[in-house]
Amino acid sequence: MQKKITLQVSPADAADPVVLQSLIAAALGEKPSAITGYQLLKRSIDARSHAVKINLTLQAGVKETFVEQALPVIDYPDVRKAKHRVVIAGAGPCGLFAALRLMEAGIRPIVLERGKDVRARRRDLAILNKEGIVDPESNYCFGEGGAGTYSDGKLYTRSNKRGSIDKILNLFVQFGADRAICIDAHPHIGTNKLPQIITAMRQQILDAGGEFHFREKVNKYIIEKGRFKAVLTATGNRFDGDALVLATGHSARDVFESLQAQGILIEAKPFALGVRIEHPQQLIDHIQYHQPVRSAFLPPASYSLVQQVNHRGVFSFCMCPGGIIAPAATAPGELVVNGWSPSKRNNPYANSGMVVTVEEKDYLNKQGALSAMHFQQSVEQKAFVAGGGKLVAPALRMTDFVNRQVSGSLPDCSYLPGVQAAPLWEVLPPFIYKSLSEGFNAFGKKMKGYLSREAIVVATESRTSSPVRIPRDPETYEHPQVKGLYPAGEGAGYAGGIVSAAMDGEKLAATIAAVLQKK
Ligand SMILES: Cc1cc2nc3c(=O)[nH]c(=O)nc-3n(C[C@H](O)[C@H](O)[C@H](O)COP(=O)(O)OP(=O)(O)OC[C@H]3O[C@@H](n4cnc5c(N)ncnc54)[C@H](O)[C@@H]3O)c2cc1C
Repeated sequence: MQKKITLQVSPADAADPVVLQSLIAAALGEKPSAITGYQLLKRSIDARSHAVKINLTLQAGVKETFVEQALPVIDYPDVRKAKHRVVIAGAGPCGLFAALRLMEAGIRPIVLERGKDVRARRRDLAILNKEGIVDPESNYCFGEGGAGTYSDGKLYTRSNKRGSIDKILNLFVQFGADRAICIDAHPHIGTNKLPQIITAMRQQILDAGGEFHFREKVNKYIIEKGRFKAVLTATGNRFDGDALVLATGHSARDVFESLQAQGILIEAKPFALGVRIEHPQQLIDHIQYHQPVRSAFLPPASYSLVQQVNHRGVFSFCMCPGGIIAPAATAPGELVVNGWSPSKRNNPYANSGMVVTVEEKDYLNKQGALSAMHFQQSVEQKAFVAGGGKLVAPALRMTDFVNRQVSGSLPDCSYLPGVQAAPLWEVLPPFIYKSLSEGFNAFGKKMKGYLSREAIVVATESRTSSPVRIPRDPETYEHPQVKGLYPAGEGAGYAGGIVSAAMDGEKLAATIAAVLQKK
């Protein structure tokens, strides 16, 4: 027989299969020899009390052969001779999962990506980090796999209403991720592992007869009688399709401009902007696990903070334990930071975005669909100047930030292009600076030791979500003016993060398939 049980155990016991087997037996009132095997289904950390515990859900075999439950594997049909083809602009998580879902339905995806493949992209990131030179077509946001490729690869999302999280995680495993992502409450993959997984997805698309074109930047839309026909790219090529999935991400400002120039409706959208904070990882471990030194059986600790300050939300965003702060600008003359971690999260720093909601009343120019985007860009440009060029980031010690004083010295920081002390209250809009200062004071009370001289505040964390929404019908997902145009993912304003973008791509692809299969 098989039984499902939940256990709360110490981190050391959770890591020891022999001990675990005897604990399972005790919980089931059996001898350890009666347990023929077990499979972990869910694992989470409970660090609320001084003795940190691990919560486990397991399936155990009792007195009969135990067979582990395998994950479903999708076998993709050959789509070379498919009746329908769909153009996908952007090979981020949204575009890739849309392509896979279309193939599942027997439709040929034509993926167009402005950037380079993951390997070539890595070389551009090295130049970006070492020399501070941004390639506007190949950077932390643009290129194969999209903004998520060189990230922490956190796969946690609250958007469970948008689709099946399990299907997305299973597909990541099918293409090479560790099965632990289907078990952990806060799964992550790591920057070192994501590129191989993304490459395997591309290979699957090509093997099944889909198309994949790099360095093809979509910049014009051919629309006939209110229906999408084709796209033109910067190289002058034309790609025709029965539909277009526009999944170009939150940083493709030229896409928003080209839509507006062609009279295709877009809208300004609230977003969030702030800074990235970095602490020594040891300090965060100490605060969260209540021990001076982290147990070898616990992962580097993370945190999630939120505070209402003067009717605005101040919140942590994309926390990367054992991570690195990365330069995430997509054009010269702008300073944008973000964070990533390797799979082992073994760098000595813990970084997190710390951002404030930006509302309609805050945009510089209240007219116009690009007003929020211009507001975002102007702060990034100020930060670039304050850093002194070459992507050196303006920064302060956290205690100096709240006391409005320029730091005499800065702590070590993982950000490779370098940091320079600068008056961040002159870089950030006053309401952002004030909200962050008050938020930091509040967080220092919630997490004793968080508001620390050893922490560094680096500007600016500005690409949190899209400053533009491309409208779409809530039922058909089509643009209200253009039949067959499907705005998708984070850039269109319908996702935030890898998993929700992937789910949005899947959902749209399933809808497109249902429409095309009726034709
Ligand atoms: C450094 C970093 C770390 C992150 N860490 C995490 C994390 O740990 N977990 C998480 O959930 N999220 C993380 N994110 C956010 C996450 O990557 C995004 O939410 C997600 O990638 C959005 O998916 P998308 O497919 O909608 O868009 P994107 O991933 O932005 O993909 C858009 C793609 O379109 C391409 N493109 C743009 N314009 C054109 C054009 N005109 N023609 C053709 N192609 C075009 C781009 O090159 C890009 O490949 C991180 C982001 C960054 C930058």
